[in-house]
Amino acid sequence: MPQPFRAPAFDFASERIDALLITEPANVRYLSGYTGSNGLIVVTPRSAVLFTDPRYAIQASQEVACSVRIVARGPLLPAAAGFLRRLRSRRVGFEKAHLSYEQHALLTDRLPGFTLIPLGPVIERQRMVKSEQELARIRRSVATNSRAFDRALKAIRPGVAEIEIAAEIEYHMRRLGAEKPAFETIVASGDRSALPHARPTSKKLKAAELTLIDMGATEDGYASDMTRVLHIGRPSPKIRRMYNAVLEAQLAAIDAVRPGVAAGRVDQAARAVLKRHGLDRMFTHSTGHGLGLEIHEAPRLGKRDTTKLEAGMAITIEPGAYVQGFGGIRIEDTVVVTAAGCEVLTPTPKELITL
Ligand code: ZN
Ligand code: ZN
Repeated sequence: MPQPFRAPAFDFASERIDALLITEPANVRYLSGYTGSNGLIVVTPRSAVLFTDPRYAIQASQEVACSVRIVARGPLLPAAAGFLRRLRSRRVGFEKAHLSYEQHALLTDRLPGFTLIPLGPVIERQRMVKSEQELARIRRSVATNSRAFDRALKAIRPGVAEIEIAAEIEYHMRRLGAEKPAFETIVASGDRSALPHARPTSKKLKAAELTLIDMGATEDGYASDMTRVLHIGRPSPKIRRMYNAVLEAQLAAIDAVRPGVAAGRVDQAARAVLKRHGLDRMFTHSTGHGLGLEIHEAPRLGKRDTTKLEAGMAITIEPGAYVQGFGGIRIEDTVVVTAAGCEVLTPTPKELITL
């Protein structure tokens, strides 16, 4: 079933703009439902047209409810410029973060007498608050991700390489309904777990070491994101202390999530707990991020982020602590802001997993 076109939350009249040129693929998908790799949309107050190429003609007719123009030859942008010329939409807003210098030069060249107006994250802002249908997809993605984790756990034992665990995880994700991993699965063991964005390697898991797993699925276009830490054998008191501190920080941050609260306050809640445990300087990233069609979306839950949380936002809560030469701990859940506070979607237990 084609997706009904989602009108941009954009006031053409007060912004004095005649047409919007949307080129960022996730924004194109959000508005139109089009999932192909080559597409752009021209939106005016009265119309919306998706431009794509013949490879996607059938797919676009199935996915999209707005008008579709198939550009038989060459790039889409010159065709869109020709269309804008005929529309006489003289003031054209474009996504400044997503149009290349070369594309901008082409538009300037093809649209003499037109004004090109750079716009900030108009559609990204709209995407922060999810619809019921989007939340249902995120829930499914989260459920698949956690089930894949449970299945992959069975393969974890000393002597298995990080990369094999990553392969297990991604295999199960797809078997359970995901299209793909939402990002490169992280499996990092021993002192490599202190690298917050480690790539899995051929390093083998060993007894008396931490293993950090950060994984997400993309299902029906929507991302999930979870981090868990496990330990083979009895963890040392130092590991226990560090783990409990990060868990306390994660719970404090979750507790701070409610509508009207600035995203930065949630980050501060996690940071305050880690500071009490002397670990604040080991927490080198922000507490979380929005997720949806993309794994990293607005809002960012960083120290100084002033975005007010709203019901319907899907975010991660993922404080961590990383000690070079020792190891790292991060605990991450996918969470939805609700009218009353928030709901943690991730069903996987949060205790340190010992094997
Ligand atoms: Zn993650
Ligand atoms: Zn994350």
